[in-house]
Amino acid sequence: MTKLALLSVSDKTGIVEFAKALVERGYQVISTGGTLKTILAGQVEATPVEEITGFPEMLDGRVKTLHPRIHAGILAKRDNPEHMAKLTENQIQPIDLICVNLYPFKETIQKDGVTDAEAIEQIDIGGPSMLRAAAKNYHDVTVITDQSDYATFLQHFDDEQLTDDFRRELAAKVFRETAAYDALIADYMTTEEFPEKLTLTYEKVEDMRYGENSHQKAAYYKDPIPEPYSLANATQLHGKALSYNNLRDADAALRMIADFKQPAVVALKHMNPCGIGVSDSLLNAWNLAYESDPISIFGGIIALNRKVDLATAEKMHALFLEIIIAPAFDDDAYAILAKKKNLRLLTVDFGDVNPTHHDSVTVLGGALMQEADTAHEAASDFKVVSKVQPTPDQLAALEFGQTVVKHVKSNAIVVTTANQTLGVGAGQMNRIDSVKIAIDKAKDKPNYADAIVASDAFFPMDDCVEFAAQNGIKAVVEPGGSIKDQASIDKADEYGIALVFTGVRHFKH
Ligand code: 5GP
Repeated sequence: MTKLALLSVSDKTGIVEFAKALVERGYQVISTGGTLKTILAGQVEATPVEEITGFPEMLDGRVKTLHPRIHAGILAKRDNPEHMAKLTENQIQPIDLICVNLYPFKETIQKDGVTDAEAIEQIDIGGPSMLRAAAKNYHDVTVITDQSDYATFLQHFDDEQLTDDFRRELAAKVFRETAAYDALIADYMTTEEFPEKLTLTYEKVEDMRYGENSHQKAAYYKDPIPEPYSLANATQLHGKALSYNNLRDADAALRMIADFKQPAVVALKHMNPCGIGVSDSLLNAWNLAYESDPISIFGGIIALNRKVDLATAEKMHALFLEIIIAPAFDDDAYAILAKKKNLRLLTVDFGDVNPTHHDSVTVLGGALMQEADTAHEAASDFKVVSKVQPTPDQLAALEFGQTVVKHVKSNAIVVTTANQTLGVGAGQMNRIDSVKIAIDKAKDKPNYADAIVASDAFFPMDDCVEFAAQNGIKAVVEPGGSIKDQASIDKADEYGIALVFTGVRHFKH
């Protein structure tokens, strides 16, 4: 009996050649409306699916292949005599190969001005049904949904290697494809922030050389429709492929720099800022960021929120850096930076972090998901709790410090002026240690006299304020909210320094 292959594809790339190859290998090709036309136009023989079903396509194509003659032909178990007898009784021929790709739902919802009705119409029904039926019956039916498998299939056919394992692999691909397809539809329709079932639609960008360490395998996935301001939308102009750690660092850098609108430079190591500078020009911002911590910046990740000019590029070229991300590079700036073969140069359209972005992490046995921390407290939100009022300059510095500290791993303390970090104390297991580290790094810097201290969470004791005051700090910002708040306020008053509360904690674990 001639083998039947049913071809029904929205994306017709390569379908004529595939149909031809199947016919050459003895298959009879059956096909639906548009696919049939394409195949016939390519001078390849094919049978309309209506000839099998005895029914015309109907309801604007909503019903084409949804018919027992198709589905029984796919689902019958060839080693089950009753199944095969039923087929014979009903004059149904088994279908051996299904090749389907689905209505372009993702592409449709990305189109400008698309209506809901247009989106809904692009929910494929018959395609997934055939794919799933064939994948379920993979022992007897070969199912192809990925165009790159046209060639793979033919190779296996020619090598007489159409094995059960191969067909099972193809079947698994189908269930992943239809699951992701449905997940995207579900996302499109869902209005709840945290729905009962979390469905994932990530698409693989690449297998990575390794993960956080060289003995850990890893891969990079992106959203099917990534947020505009994201690494998934960045363009790498130069350098080695981004590593797993690079991606996490670069993501952290993008989040940090988004909080500054003036020319700004963020230098980052291990997801913590080691220097942030903000100024009237990019070069001045670079100088501030660099001078924050000329040691830690070695091997750092740099994000700049203006087009990189030659003068700034020359400064960066003098150092060993891992990544530079900017909205653009002047030609001469690019030329000098690209002299370093490995340095990764990336551009991305700068913007705000999507306020509806959700961050997720996995834990053993599950995952946690939360809204991204996009809260920002301006000086006008601060509550002065000390007797001494901060000066306008100190207030500006407190606001800058508060903006920076939320990007630092907890327990986080930063010492800053109004436009430069001077000392960063990150990730200590008690807050006073973070204070000591930050002040120790800051206290020999030329601008230390103007410095303030910012804390990502409240002071549990009065020792942090005391240590800061004893080291010449004149203003401190923290969320407040400790049962010991009064002790910290009393310390500030005892030393005659300003203490302000924000009311908003910014833990970052
Ligand atoms: P064609 O361009 O050949 O007319 O249509 C191909 C598309 O139709 C494929 O993407 C396939 O998944 C889809 N398709 C096949 N059968 C059915 C059906 O019965 N109903 C719906 N809604 N889509 C179908």
